[in-house]
Amino acid sequence: MKFNLAQVLTFGLLAWTGAAQAVDCAAVRERFQCDASTKYPLHLSFDDGPALQTTDVLNVLKQEKIPATFFVIAYKVDCPAIEKQCQSEHPNDAAKACVQPVRECEQRKQILQQAKQAGHVIGSHSYEHLRYSEVEQGLMNEHFRLARQVLNPYLTTNPPLFRLPYGDGWFNREQKPQVLQALKANGFQHIAWQFSAFDWDEKNQQGDKILANVLEQVCTRKQGGVVLFHDGVHDQMHQGRLFTTTHLKEWIPSLRCVVDFKLLSFFEKGYTQHR
Ligand SMILES: [Zn+2]
Repeated sequence: MKFNLAQVLTFGLLAWTGAAQAVDCAAVRERFQCDASTKYPLHLSFDDGPALQTTDVLNVLKQEKIPATFFVIAYKVDCPAIEKQCQSEHPNDAAKACVQPVRECEQRKQILQQAKQAGHVIGSHSYEHLRYSEVEQGLMNEHFRLARQVLNPYLTTNPPLFRLPYGDGWFNREQKPQVLQALKANGFQHIAWQFSAFDWDEKNQQGDKILANVLEQVCTRKQGGVVLFHDGVHDQMHQGRLFTTTHLKEWIPSLRCVVDFKLLSFFEKGYTQHR
């Protein structure tokens, strides 16, 4: 990849100052060797929430008028289950210890409701964040059933959509067909992704590496698709994927140099959306 120092500095400065500053799209396209005459369709998707900072993502999407999809972990909004778990872990001081976890769960439910009301697609990322091809069939079925039951007030499509944690059961669907079969039996349609921001990886959580990951993939492959980001962290209940939720706003102007944001239905058929 060829770009000169001035372009690097310009791009870095623009990325840093964010949306308030106009982006030099020619420099962005040159840096990633993007076709100047094409805008690729792109749909943003966010996994592992809801989290407290999902609110920040919703604000950016609203401001920028971008439609998105959220694949949420059902356990994070299963407040009775969270309370029960907390009580079992705090047999002597449950009344005190479990106030905050339950309050935070209620807050996540509100945030998820906001995402739905904003018109975004809400899908399931299962009940817990497991590699379901390695999970015993009974537990897998139970988690898919629970995901459907707990997320029922929030799911926005018919049939409801589902994205497997780690893509496990999707990438290896030839070897492990039981996962997609179980999803289908529970009435879900699976949605994969074409690009990954790799925003979960700490080594990318600096500068504009996450933005660069997305633009490199889009411009190298010369095609659009669904891109995977994370608003939540699968093994943290409440705090989100902070680097993404903090910096998403700054990446949008550069993304717009190369992509047009589209609805999920631009790429994925076979379902209808409702609110
Ligand atoms: Zn995930």
